[in-house]
Amino acid sequence: MTPRTPTPSPTCERCRKRITGTHVLAMGAAWHPECWRCGVCGKAITGPYFQHEGKPVCERDYLAAFAPRCFFCGEVLTGTFRENPFGQRACARHDHGPACRSCDRWLGRQEGLMVPLGAFGTALCGLCQREAVGHGEARNYGNAFGAAALGELGLTLPAIPTVPIRLEPALLVMQLKGSLERLVDGLTRNATATLNGRETGRAITEIIVVGGLAREHFEGVLAHEFGHVWLFHQRFDHLAEPLAEGFSELVKDRWLERLGTPLARALRRKLAESRDPVYGDGFRLLKARWDGSGLGGVMALLGDPG
Ligand SMILES: [Zn+2]
Ligand SMILES: [Zn+2]
Ligand SMILES: [Zn+2]
Ligand SMILES: [Zn+2]
Ligand SMILES: [Zn+2]
Repeated sequence: MTPRTPTPSPTCERCRKRITGTHVLAMGAAWHPECWRCGVCGKAITGPYFQHEGKPVCERDYLAAFAPRCFFCGEVLTGTFRENPFGQRACARHDHGPACRSCDRWLGRQEGLMVPLGAFGTALCGLCQREAVGHGEARNYGNAFGAAALGELGLTLPAIPTVPIRLEPALLVMQLKGSLERLVDGLTRNATATLNGRETGRAITEIIVVGGLAREHFEGVLAHEFGHVWLFHQRFDHLAEPLAEGFSELVKDRWLERLGTPLARALRRKLAESRDPVYGDGFRLLKARWDGSGLGGVMALLGDPG
């Protein structure tokens, strides 16, 4: 080992000259006070500093150029602030705002302006809009999709006539469902024919889904509705609502897991965290059975039809 000779006076990191008077120790080096300057405005830094690309930046310039800002108003965020899973941050006054119907990403000003233009009244972010399902795309879906979704649980779609799938505006779907306080993405309509009080036949008349949802979202909703189709044909007519909706949400969850895309994962997270006493609690009940004992556990929970 070579003995170290202590340096009597350090060298300035900027001008490379010896420092004889007072010096600033920062960023692992020594600096003349007049050489310790902001990389943006060039003025000597006297207060707190930040590092940006290896250069010191004064507090004023750092906050102006690099500090986190509120997604909605652009205000610099200091102290605590809210951040969503997409890294969008907001000040206390704007902790939520218009969000994408499919992925929940907050909508920027431009995206927000596109809302009234959507034929279905569905506000989507720029990413989800590229995959939005309109009438043309919906035509590719039918019983084969339902069979595949139910197949993820080991269930079989009975041989039934092709179920018509119709897209409608969000508000109309909510009105048809008779639910204006809960956001509704789809519904299944059925008909039972009776003669002298006895059932003579039953059929699914149509599935209605909110138009303009992102593809994975649309498929998740459709999977849920085919869960109802299956329950109807198995004659589970008197299931408690959390069981019926929880079962259909499980069909949706299984399909989204199969899709495995970032949006599908975000939608599954939303399902799992739903605070809704029917959909959220119902889903968690069914999902626990599925995870614990598979289809057998789910069927035991549903009990006997009728
Ligand atoms: Zn210097
Ligand atoms: Zn500066
Ligand atoms: Zn704000
Ligand atoms: Zn989106
Ligand atoms: Zn449902």
